[in-house]
Amino acid sequence: MADYVLVTGGAGYIGSHACKALKQAGFTPVTYDNLVTGWEQAVKFGPFEKGDLLDRARLDEVFAKYQPIAVMHFAALSQVGEAMNQPGKYWHNNVSGSLSLIEAATAAGCLDFVFSSTCATYGDQDNVVLDENAVQLPLNAYGASKRAIEDMLKDFEAAYGLRHVIFRYFNVAGADPEAEVGEFHRPETHLVPLVLDAIDGKRDALTVFGDDYDTPDGTCIRDYVHVCDLVDAHVLGLKWLKDGKGSRVFNLGTGSGFSVREVMDRAEQVTGRKVPYSIGPRRGGDCTKLVSGSTRAKSELGWDPKRSDMASMIADAWKWHQTGHYDH
Ligand code: UDP
Repeated sequence: MADYVLVTGGAGYIGSHACKALKQAGFTPVTYDNLVTGWEQAVKFGPFEKGDLLDRARLDEVFAKYQPIAVMHFAALSQVGEAMNQPGKYWHNNVSGSLSLIEAATAAGCLDFVFSSTCATYGDQDNVVLDENAVQLPLNAYGASKRAIEDMLKDFEAAYGLRHVIFRYFNVAGADPEAEVGEFHRPETHLVPLVLDAIDGKRDALTVFGDDYDTPDGTCIRDYVHVCDLVDAHVLGLKWLKDGKGSRVFNLGTGSGFSVREVMDRAEQVTGRKVPYSIGPRRGGDCTKLVSGSTRAKSELGWDPKRSDMASMIADAWKWHQTGHYDH
């Protein structure tokens, strides 16, 4: 029997890349996705089961059908701006949805769980090294919802033995270098695809959300990781659990920060075109600087990010941008 891994959000940006990585590693990814933000055309590497996290009967059916050896849980709402304006949506979808999934997994005896969390759980902390032991002080309902799910996993481990690897992502960018899958959100809110949209005229101009932050060029600083490197870490996390190494939290970042202006400059170098832009107000909920201060994933998991330099991330995103898109 195939080694099925249930991938929630497998039709989304990161989940679809994870499905490709899982298939390449010899697993069979089963995508569970409600297609609210995901795309059926992104499901290319294993079976697709349409369903909502809040639909417990549907989850039970899918667990019974495939008897997955593990869950990789990506499905979530993830927009900081929306989370500020509609926090209830985040608590309902992310937290209640994850509770439904975690209860279904434990009931099915599927006790290895890989969870996509976020550096947004740390919030804005000046002069604090953001390693896995940093205090979590989320600034918005997105980060708060992810922190709550981390706590939930700990409680379910204590009660039912649910082993989990939690990955706290910094910013994810880039695309599959073969452009089979890529980043495609509607509406798009993320910096790199918006920069590329502005470059090729798909939108008028990029709005830079504030240039009066306390950073060298005044724009926010983030730590960008290539999506392929990120999902490679997930496969390593799955193996970690299967090797019986137990629950663990890992930051996934490179430790190098790029400002919004630096990302724009690099995009101009890679594409050879200008980024039209204007300076707008700060976006509520944004932190000044989020850069990983940890090398735990490298030292313990053996994670070896190969494409997370800014030029490769933009080049791969640009290739996908020019060739790939999904439609409902
Ligand atoms: N950003 C921006 N203009 C945009 C979108 C994003 O200036 O149209 C900035 C945003 O304020 C943040 C960085 O780009 O500093 C990355 O934002 P993104 O939404 O891609 O990821 P987040 O950091 O919210 O996870």
